[in-house]
Amino acid sequence: MSERHAGAPGQVKEVTSLANPLVKDIKALALKKFRDQQNAFMAEGLKLVIDALDLGWSIKTLVFAKAGRGNAAVEKVAARTVAAGGTVLEVSEKVLTAITRRDNPQMVVGVFAQKILPLKDIRARDGDVWVALDRVRDPGNLGTVIRTVDAVGAKGVILVGETTDPFSVETVRATMGSIFAVPVAKATPESFLAWRKSFSGLVAGTHLKGAVDYRSVDFARGPVLLLMGNEQQGLPDSLAESCDRLLRIPQAGRADSLNLAVATGVMLFEIRRGALKLGPD
Ligand code: SAM
Repeated sequence: MSERHAGAPGQVKEVTSLANPLVKDIKALALKKFRDQQNAFMAEGLKLVIDALDLGWSIKTLVFAKAGRGNAAVEKVAARTVAAGGTVLEVSEKVLTAITRRDNPQMVVGVFAQKILPLKDIRARDGDVWVALDRVRDPGNLGTVIRTVDAVGAKGVILVGETTDPFSVETVRATMGSIFAVPVAKATPESFLAWRKSFSGLVAGTHLKGAVDYRSVDFARGPVLLLMGNEQQGLPDSLAESCDRLLRIPQAGRADSLNLAVATGVMLFEIRRGALKLGPD
């Protein structure tokens, strides 16, 4: 390992060995245990890393492929990382492939500090929409919901109970960068139910036994909390009973239910119908 730009506030290092301890730490981020130990997670792609920095996320390490040397955008992001006190690693293709566990990896990977919004800090105002997910299991579903929450201009996501990790590589990939734009809170079922009592708007649950057609509800007044059930079991009674309304999306055909992320998307576009407009081309 050799060091360049000695004396800069951060460090820029060339790394070609998979045995390098910094590389080992980043590779370990594939596991939740080490993500939590390091309070860190990984995001792939130059655009994502730039967006994350613009949105004020704290970068710990920037990794870029040798091919990025001389690329103005990569150099700029490297300079921002150094200025923020982060470490910059210039690595071989082999190291980048090992870190991302992907052939043809992105040229840039950022390691960021995790951020979770404390539940008590959520104070919903008129027009705000929050999504609560009960025990979401699938990283693709969680990432897709976070991306959709971002796309409709909802305020954030509350993870209730034991859920898949919002900072896993699969979830972050599925968010397509929205992980950096959408606040995520965590709650036990008990703390969620306690917090829910102070929620001033409509708490709309979705349920396959819901008696109300989701299109018949006026979501325009006050804040809305949309509560979605677990992929296998749906909402447990304790959460379903805490809802003001239990809504159903009518279906035709043989499918028993919609995929969780699809159902969340259908609901969110209905709830935000009046707020979303096509801009000028
Ligand atoms: N077997 C589960 C059940 O009995 O609820 C299916 C759960 S479904 C895959 C995951 C979640 O998506 C549900 O808990 C509900 O929140 C929502 N969902 C899916 N299809 C729905 C529909 N047609 N109407 C209302 N909610 C729906």
